[in-house]
Amino acid sequence: MIIGVPKEIKNNENRVGLVPGGVRQLVHDGHEVYVETNAGYGIGISDEDFIQAGAKILGSLEDVFAKSTMIIKVKEPQAREIALLKPHHILYTYLHLAADEPQTRGLMESGSTSIAYETIQPADGSLPLLTPMSEVAGRMATQIGAAYLQIDHGGKGVLLGGVPGTRRAKVTVIGCGVAGTNAIKMAMGMGADVTAIDLSTKRLAELDDLFDNRITTLFSNIENIETTVQESDLVIGAVLVPGAKAPKLVTRDMIAKMEKGSVVVDIAVDQGGCIETCKPTTHQDPTFLVDGVVHYCVANMPGAVAKTSTFALTNVTLKYARMIAKYGVEEAARMDAAFKKGINIYKGKLVYKQVADDLN
Ligand code: NAD
Repeated sequence: MIIGVPKEIKNNENRVGLVPGGVRQLVHDGHEVYVETNAGYGIGISDEDFIQAGAKILGSLEDVFAKSTMIIKVKEPQAREIALLKPHHILYTYLHLAADEPQTRGLMESGSTSIAYETIQPADGSLPLLTPMSEVAGRMATQIGAAYLQIDHGGKGVLLGGVPGTRRAKVTVIGCGVAGTNAIKMAMGMGADVTAIDLSTKRLAELDDLFDNRITTLFSNIENIETTVQESDLVIGAVLVPGAKAPKLVTRDMIAKMEKGSVVVDIAVDQGGCIETCKPTTHQDPTFLVDGVVHYCVANMPGAVAKTSTFALTNVTLKYARMIAKYGVEEAARMDAAFKKGINIYKGKLVYKQVADDLN
């Protein structure tokens, strides 16, 4: 199969759909790979690196689409890219169609086939192509929270792990799945006093085991959240109710009771946020104050560590790229039920039920 990797054109997106290692694997499998010039520039991967791996470099987005059958990307296609899609194309990328009717209609009108990373789902219900980004966001949340606790960043001037003879900072993580657990790992590594709050008692038991009883685990209810949040230096929100908006678990009143210069990081902001006072922010202007509490609510946190994120993402996307390239979409779907769930649009027809329901 002929595979194309365009340079991402969404604002501030530095990730790329394939790294040289992935190119090498696909070329080894017998495929041809075309990469747009400077596709890896933002994360220090040169055209020469791609050439060494066996890719051919093309000068424009238009050339990449014109030459290729499968297009491997990171972000949902922008209008300029959708206009280039033809019925023979297979688009393999993050799509998030449910919230984006113009994109959905554009992809349908192109007659092409679109596979969404975020809906590839094995029988256990996990979302393996989303997991690495939650891992990245979770680990970043603690590191970012620690920086904003510094006075020079508007915080109260507290070091997460303290030093001998001083108290440790109190970190509360609400929602302890993939992102939350990674936030806890970093907070523990930095020596903080950590409380983990989740609705799942099974998850709390797993965390208690994982951290050898060195963190406090609390069941998620209003009482526990209120008491813990007001004593915390850093609160990290990472709840997810699949397919739904995040519940507002930390209220405005709770924020008002926190010490000035405390920090909240709402990772769940992309699902509406679990902290009532949060609203989406950007890497250019990431924080704002409410009642003296620093709020960080960037909806695409992994973008700030595009290099790590690219490698983490392509580690998990390559498997299905190889399947599509070897067997084609139809045969791959017959062989692998998890992959089949990733097909959102097949030859112009919307086949992913949840998206279809949301559009009606
Ligand atoms: P996950 O499903 O692994 O974990 C969610 C956890 O929330 C689960 O343990 C669940 O039991 C818990 N939960 C649900 N309802 C709760 C409640 N009422 N109280 C306490 N806990 C509750 O999800 P994840 O992969 O860790 O993702 C978490 C959020 O982070 C999602 O909204 C995801 O979209 C978002 N995310 C954001 C970014 C970003 O850049 N901001 C990046 C990656 C992921």
